[in-house]
Amino acid sequence: MVSPFVSIRRDLHKIPELGFQEFKTQQYLLNYIASLPQERLEIQTWKTGIFVKINGLQPTKTIAYRADIDGLPIHEETELPYRSQHEGKMHACGHDFHMSIALGVLTHFVHHPIRDDLLFIFQPAEEGPGGALPMLQSEPMQQWRPDMIIALHIAPEYPVGTIAIKAGLLFANTSELFIDLKGKGGHAAFPHLANDMVVAACALVTQLQSIVARNVDPLDSAVITIGKISGGTVQNVIAENARLEGTIRTLSAESMKKVKERIESLVKGMEIAYQCEASIDYGSMYYQVYNNEKLTKEFMTFVQQHSDIHMIECREAMTGEDFGYMLAEIPGFMFWLGVESEYGLHHARLNPNELAIDQAISLLASYIGWKGNN
Ligand SMILES: [Zn+2]
Ligand SMILES: [Zn+2]
Repeated sequence: MVSPFVSIRRDLHKIPELGFQEFKTQQYLLNYIASLPQERLEIQTWKTGIFVKINGLQPTKTIAYRADIDGLPIHEETELPYRSQHEGKMHACGHDFHMSIALGVLTHFVHHPIRDDLLFIFQPAEEGPGGALPMLQSEPMQQWRPDMIIALHIAPEYPVGTIAIKAGLLFANTSELFIDLKGKGGHAAFPHLANDMVVAACALVTQLQSIVARNVDPLDSAVITIGKISGGTVQNVIAENARLEGTIRTLSAESMKKVKERIESLVKGMEIAYQCEASIDYGSMYYQVYNNEKLTKEFMTFVQQHSDIHMIECREAMTGEDFGYMLAEIPGFMFWLGVESEYGLHHARLNPNELAIDQAISLLASYIGWKGNN
């Protein structure tokens, strides 16, 4: 017999949808919420997301909990009976866990109302193009502005029964990077009549490495990875176009700005040196996840004193999360929830341990219950 929130997780796992296309997911969540007693609930939808407010008994503040709801364009390779039924899409980042845990906590407080108001935020498009920032600026968020906000993310590398957290920076600043180079194509035997963009692209990739090595404080940290190069058409024609695709990660917002300035300077230099036209597109960018010191430390103490969950103080990671935009305006924190899977996040065989779902629900119910009465 599986717990109700494990079966909800399995239902949601079958229907992964990409950013801002989470129509079935939204409907599933709305149907479930409609099945609960409605006396204290107020519900507003925003695009494919949902805000659910539980009115407190004598509210002095609003505590928000955020769950992201989108899947990834990955073909699932597990043999699970509840594997994805949407070809080429998968909940490979655990957002199905995040949603079922949110519903579990919400259900608890519908049946056990507390003093303060609670706001549950079901956010679309975390994997891109990013739902947190527009949702933060949306009408319902302005109207029900929370005083604090929390979220979790599953962590395959930690055992079930553990959480990992730290005060301050948890996730990096991230930005995509696309650079297009346009020169002049020509016959492979007449290089002097053309401007070869394969040569320019190779030179640029090498130059980009100098930014982390020579422009970033060694006690700070940054990563520039070019994960894909494409250019040219055939072996004996000089390439007219080339494209670099990559990602930038930095531990500070200032470093992100500086790294981008250096990229722009190097690319300008390429235009002169290789007689070409270049353009830069940063795609989607996520602001750092920075955990509020006071609230995080208070939560850590609470976990140690009031639960049998093992708490690990972890290091920051170069991964990105658009929850950072919410934390930039509303004090709060995010933590890792151990789900012990052999395969990591965004892997086609990710199979998180479902025992973590009910553990997370009871931890959050007791923490929020305490925080919302104090
Ligand atoms: Zn992800
Ligand atoms: Zn995720």
